[in-house]
Amino acid sequence: MMIDREARKLLFETVAQRVIASAEELTDLDRAIGDGDHGVNMRRGFEAVLAAVDELSAKNLGESLKGVGTTLVMKVGGASGPLYGTLFMSLGKTLDDEVTCERVADAFATAIDAVRARGKSDVGQKTMLDVLFPVLAVLREGGTELPVRLKAVAKAASEETIPMRAIRGRASFLGERSVGHMDPGARSSALIVDAVVDVMEGLA
Ligand code: ADP
Ligand code: MG
Repeated sequence: MMIDREARKLLFETVAQRVIASAEELTDLDRAIGDGDHGVNMRRGFEAVLAAVDELSAKNLGESLKGVGTTLVMKVGGASGPLYGTLFMSLGKTLDDEVTCERVADAFATAIDAVRARGKSDVGQKTMLDVLFPVLAVLREGGTELPVRLKAVAKAASEETIPMRAIRGRASFLGERSVGHMDPGARSSALIVDAVVDVMEGLA
């Protein structure tokens, strides 16, 4: 599938709009186990993406993803800014305009590794990785009903962070008290996956 300029614009706009629309929810989650700024951080970053969307999507997919990543690093702040920035920049390094499910899965795997390295974190620590990993696993499986399964796994995986104890990030300061709340970064990752899947499904 070819991701042309129009598709790139739709992709970035949809992701940005969904994140912005959920800023309050993300901030509420972060208020419970963090410092209550995840939604504000993400909204600031994705408002900057929206403001520059024409310019960003004018470049090929690789370069435009790198541009989104750089914007997020500069504007989101907190722990999540450099991590989401790394994710998008790494995707940009590997992907070109002609994508296949396999290529996206390979690029996503590399990008997740980059996030792990940057965050010195891994799956099972109650972070965004606990959504990104299971999503990658389903992407690798491929098969029928992929969009539905990707969205279902993102939702389920974000909910599965509720009983987890945080080992990384601010929530880890709470120790046992981090149990019983959804990780805000897991929720924002699920939102982003949802938005990307919806756009890709529409393009297919
Ligand atoms: P901060 O914690 O600096 O206030 P945010 O509130 O914007 O930053 O983002 C918090 C989210 O970032 C967490 O919910 C978690 O998912 C993610 N996160 C924090 N630290 C790490 C890490 N080391 N590795 C992976 N994800 C992390
Ligand atoms: Mg925070």
